[in-house]
Amino acid sequence: MVSTPLKTTRSEEIFAAAQKLMPGGVSSPVRAFKSVGGQPIVFDRVQGAYVWDVDGNQYIDYVGTWGPSICGHAHPEVISALHEALEKGTSFGAPCYLENVLAEMVIEAVPSIEMVRFVNSGTEACMGVLRLMRAFTGREKIIKFEGCYHGHADSFLVKAGSGVATLGLPDSPGVPKSATGGTLTAPYNDLEAVKALFKDNPDSIAGVILEPIVGNSGFIRPDAGFLEGLRELTKEYGALLVFDEVMTGFRIAYGGVQEKFGITPDLTTLGKIIGGGLPVGAYGGRADIMAMVAPAGPMYQAGTLSGNPLAMTAGIKTLELLQKPGTYEQLETITKKLSEGLLKAARDNGHTVCGGSLSAMFGMFFTEGPVHNYDDAKKSDLAKFGKFHRGMLECGVYLAPSQFEAGFTSLAHTDEDIDRTIAAARDVLASL
Ligand SMILES: *Cc1c(COP(=O)(O)O)cnc(C)c1O
Repeated sequence: MVSTPLKTTRSEEIFAAAQKLMPGGVSSPVRAFKSVGGQPIVFDRVQGAYVWDVDGNQYIDYVGTWGPSICGHAHPEVISALHEALEKGTSFGAPCYLENVLAEMVIEAVPSIEMVRFVNSGTEACMGVLRLMRAFTGREKIIKFEGCYHGHADSFLVKAGSGVATLGLPDSPGVPKSATGGTLTAPYNDLEAVKALFKDNPDSIAGVILEPIVGNSGFIRPDAGFLEGLRELTKEYGALLVFDEVMTGFRIAYGGVQEKFGITPDLTTLGKIIGGGLPVGAYGGRADIMAMVAPAGPMYQAGTLSGNPLAMTAGIKTLELLQKPGTYEQLETITKKLSEGLLKAARDNGHTVCGGSLSAMFGMFFTEGPVHNYDDAKKSDLAKFGKFHRGMLECGVYLAPSQFEAGFTSLAHTDEDIDRTIAAARDVLASL
């Protein structure tokens, strides 16, 4: 594999201009290459497993627009369904039959969901679910885990260093203490810490929210018994269990982590894949809890563009494609091959790594591991990851520009793409 220095002149020009127009030159911070150094690549188009930048370079993509494109970018059937829907208008602001169709698909797929509310992003879904947890239980405190991301709403932006764990100190300027005072945090996979929080606050915790498989501090699995333990604890204390499956829903299995592991939360948030590349989120769960949501009940939450026909169409078509026999087996097989190939390439070249995959999600940390939580993940050699990331980019492989992000595969990735990626990784890792 030849790796010539990338020509990215046009990307650099556009990004330089963007920095004068938008904070940091991006519309979402993860797109900047802050943690790996260098400048982001400006995309021109995406198709299947590939992305092309504005200088004409082609990359095998493992970001998949951060999760949605599990069928491959710009899938012809999704695009063609969108063309058809477009002709009938882009937003109704009135009930639309396509909402029923997607709602039925989601309810049938996700074990915990008996009713669903569509919104426009994962952030909105998590904001809605937070209010619902509080409205239904009449309690204000929630437990979240260090390193889990639930969108950028005030209450979820809490840094969870051990010393400040129960103080709920905000993670970003502009977030008032009053917004995070009710946010209790525990290390992921630490059931004892959760028990202690419940013991100290027996009647005031509305619920526990988590990524049932973590993607937002890198790829981290729940330890055996962790999800079961949370299910029991929340029941015992009359609190709700919420799985944030914005990333894992329809990716780890068609019915998400809850289907894969057979643990049913009370409420679930979704996003990413169910919008098929258009802006969508959703929250849903037990019908008696969802009955609280306006206009059925008193908990207010609304959205001008929620449930719009374009987003519903892309979601429906994407889920239809995922329903075809063998899709998840295919995703599992190629992802496992990729993950094992990357780990072996690293170890053969003397690097200390750990990681793994499940279904269409994978991760590799530059640390000995095992990684059970964010603190473990932070032991990774970030400088080495930065060089690895750059090297892979120069070999035509686009990885998420952070050690603390999971990787995503799609139905469009071929065996040959995986082989090329592993070969590139061998070369890059041999040079580090
Ligand atoms: C991406 C993500 C969100 C936020 O979704 P947006 O659509 O980016 O607002 C929330 N929770 C999890 C687990 C996510 O991965």
